[in-house]
Amino acid sequence: MTQTTSSEVGARVRAAVRGRVWQPDDDGYDDARRVWNGAVDRRPAVVVRCADAEDVRTALLVARECDAPLSVRGGGHDWAGRALGDGAVVLDLSALRDVQVDPRAGVAVAQGGALVADVVDPAAAHGLGTATAVVRTVGMAGMTLAGGYGGLAGRFGLALDNLISADVLLPDGTRVVAGPDGDPELFWALRGGGANFGIVTAARYRLHPLGPVLGGMVLFPQQQAVQVLRGYRDLIAMAPDELTVMAGFVAGPTGEAAVFLAPTWSGDPVAGDTVLAPFLRLGTVVAGGIGPLPYGDLIRMFEQGARPGQHYTLGTRWLPTLSDHAIQVLAEAASTWSSASSLLALHHFHGAATRVAPDATAFALRSEHLLAEVIAAWPGGDPTPHRAWVERVTDALAPGALPGGYPNILGPDDAERARLAFGANADRLLAAKRRYDPDGVLTAIASLPT
Ligand SMILES: Cc1cc2nc3c(=O)[nH]c(=O)nc-3n(C[C@H](O)[C@H](O)[C@H](O)COP(=O)(O)OP(=O)(O)OC[C@H]3O[C@@H](n4cnc5c(N)ncnc54)[C@H](O)[C@@H]3O)c2cc1C
Repeated sequence: MTQTTSSEVGARVRAAVRGRVWQPDDDGYDDARRVWNGAVDRRPAVVVRCADAEDVRTALLVARECDAPLSVRGGGHDWAGRALGDGAVVLDLSALRDVQVDPRAGVAVAQGGALVADVVDPAAAHGLGTATAVVRTVGMAGMTLAGGYGGLAGRFGLALDNLISADVLLPDGTRVVAGPDGDPELFWALRGGGANFGIVTAARYRLHPLGPVLGGMVLFPQQQAVQVLRGYRDLIAMAPDELTVMAGFVAGPTGEAAVFLAPTWSGDPVAGDTVLAPFLRLGTVVAGGIGPLPYGDLIRMFEQGARPGQHYTLGTRWLPTLSDHAIQVLAEAASTWSSASSLLALHHFHGAATRVAPDATAFALRSEHLLAEVIAAWPGGDPTPHRAWVERVTDALAPGALPGGYPNILGPDDAERARLAFGANADRLLAAKRRYDPDGVLTAIASLPT
């Protein structure tokens, strides 16, 4: 086969699709290839902002005919930039954000490029909600396909537990419905196996009655880290489903590291104050507050600390519990971080999320745990000290950690940890990869070894 050059691929895509197209010499190319992590600097052959699902298929088929690498961009929040491939045809879904809510059926149908807020806000207009990430601008599909931790995990499970079905375009251009009434094996694999099998052009989410929640973030002095986190450990061990509490470290009002607790109470508003009071007594609250607010406002909370365009690198561990060792490691990490914009976060996995059988979806870890995120953020420049800090902290958290790690956050070189993350589901998942993407066209999050 004659090798098609990047510019020929771009020209063929441009001629075939209805959406906007950027090649390296086009005005706006640099904007089109920008993702959340400013450290990602990939140069795709062409970025196609698909106008509809048919455009996605057309661009996919042209890329395949040209034997060109392919990547899919949803919300662009993967820290490792897997939405963009060097020299690739990027199927950019960011114009496909329509969401239709059927309040009677309790279902939201979201196009493949919809963001978390695109689902949360129209659902809230009907007094409904679903499990999502804690930041509004994260891509709903990208987040769901590998998990979806958030403040409603105890009550409604992971985001992927609320996926009813999805319209999927397979790498050979076939359209299928992944779901109990469509292809159940693809549905199983999609829920945890990430974007490895096909492109989700529409996803149906189960909605639940959800009024305003009680939540927010409170900060305690770094000197009280050990007592606050030990108390947090004891309190969340008894948390009802309606209460999911994040914790970690951020820069406080003085610029020094501070411990944070960020609860989401989605139960009876009257009972909420009583449930949350013991958390506020764990130390001296130096900033922040907790109050009633719409869930959609609560998830604005972390936007300040996760601004797009900064440079980021991430590490992660799954902790079965918050041991004294882990508390020491985190407290020391916050005192030695390489930049004051950095962040340490613990996502709380319990309740409804644990009552799903480990083999019911590809996401295998269903025991109670904390997802630790080690996030270095800096304005730009030399990444070396920041990478070293993340590696040091992630390594120090390894003793006592569970095998694997959250596939949405594992790095491109973490294939072995991704395999461990899927535990007894790994072989079935790899068989699904061979079946649905035999040529390995979609190298995605949770990079599955082929
Ligand atoms: C600020 C921030 C906050 C976060 N908070 C949370 C959180 O609270 N809980 C949590 O669980 N995770 C969280 N994450 C992780 C996040 O869920 C993952 O990074 C997720 O992959 C982002 O999806 P995206 O569509 O925005 O990213 P992208 O970079 O666009 O895509 C990520 C991957 O998914 C693929 N993809 C995207 N859309 C589709 C689609 N429609 N069909 C097929 N493949 C697709 C892409 O090809 C890529 O491989 C957070 C990340 C950030 C940066």
